[in-house]
Amino acid sequence: NKYFTLKQYVDGFPSESDFELRSGPLLLAPQEGSKKVIVKNLFVSVDPYQINRMKKRSPSHKSANFAQRIDLGKRIDAMGVGRVVAACGYAEEELLGWEDYTVAGPGSMLTKIPTSQFPLSYHVSVLGSSGLTAYAGFYQICKPRRGETVFVSAACGSVGHLVGQFAKLSGCYVVGCAGSKKKVDLLKGELGFDDAFNYKEERDINSALKRCFPSGIDIYFDNVGGEMLEAAVANMNAFGRVAVCGAISEYTSSERRAAPDMLDVIYKRITVQGFLAYDHIAVHDEFISVTSDYLRHGRMQSIEDISHGLESIPSAFIALFRGDNVGKKLVQL
Ligand code: NDP
Repeated sequence: NKYFTLKQYVDGFPSESDFELRSGPLLLAPQEGSKKVIVKNLFVSVDPYQINRMKKRSPSHKSANFAQRIDLGKRIDAMGVGRVVAACGYAEEELLGWEDYTVAGPGSMLTKIPTSQFPLSYHVSVLGSSGLTAYAGFYQICKPRRGETVFVSAACGSVGHLVGQFAKLSGCYVVGCAGSKKKVDLLKGELGFDDAFNYKEERDINSALKRCFPSGIDIYFDNVGGEMLEAAVANMNAFGRVAVCGAISEYTSSERRAAPDMLDVIYKRITVQGFLAYDHIAVHDEFISVTSDYLRHGRMQSIEDISHGLESIPSAFIALFRGDNVGKKLVQL
């Protein structure tokens, strides 16, 4: 089995030398009573939040085991889709990972994918955790009403492009920001956003938001934190809602920190709420049913950006922080 480990803790921007490809036997030994399975990994999800688990001082959030630090020399776990190829083994693992095969036992986070008319990759993207993040974050945290104005950052990314589509389907006015002309064109063209801008070409984010939202923002779905959060809060309407999903602009730099004006938050009675998708398992069945229906009827689409081969995982991961991905980043093994 070939698998990636963390060779050194990530400090600042990640680099290929932070990772090491190793190989070792799968240690398969059929055992009486064992309920373990071997999974051939087919699609590995590449996610920005993983960087926070790769730092020496990883935030230790006891409520979430997927937020815990990845130890040096240990396999890097990840979400993904695979095929069970054998039962009975004795290695102890949990999630799939940056590896060819995973051995999983009782208590693992494996779930069986029901027979589906959709491509397998969708179960990691639009029907997987990115989809649940977008759905739960938008409906449970933002509580949209028809006609409200919605701003989405990293709007052409895995979560962002789904949030924008849910918002349009809910009758909202939606503006996204992204880091390239290609992404802005995709948002305004194929994905039906009302407007979009390239934040890297704006001199001042505050003015860009004033231009796009002359009557203010009711909902901000925040994927990036930092200056974007600051500017969004400055442009929010009274009783606005901010869903704090991620803060990617702060993951690779300890200098930039979000600093929304808290007097704005108070006087405009804005709700700013962080959330984790996995807290919203209660809406999972509803999310699958609603989203599958939208996909089936062509009312929503999933954009995926797929690299090939185990060896490409580190570079695919690093590219997230340069904004190279368009839609959900996956590696097909
Ligand atoms: P994306 O597919 O959106 O990929 C990351 C994108 O972030 C890049 O493509 C890039 O797009 C943008 N980006 C990168 N660096 C910066 C920067 N310095 N400033 C601004 N934008 C930047 O990733 P995901 O959709 O998987 O994740 C989006 C966010 O949601 C992340 O912050 C992630 O941690 C968070 N998340 C939270 C979850 C939760 O349960 N709370 C679950 C899943 C994800 P661009 O071209 O726009 O720069």
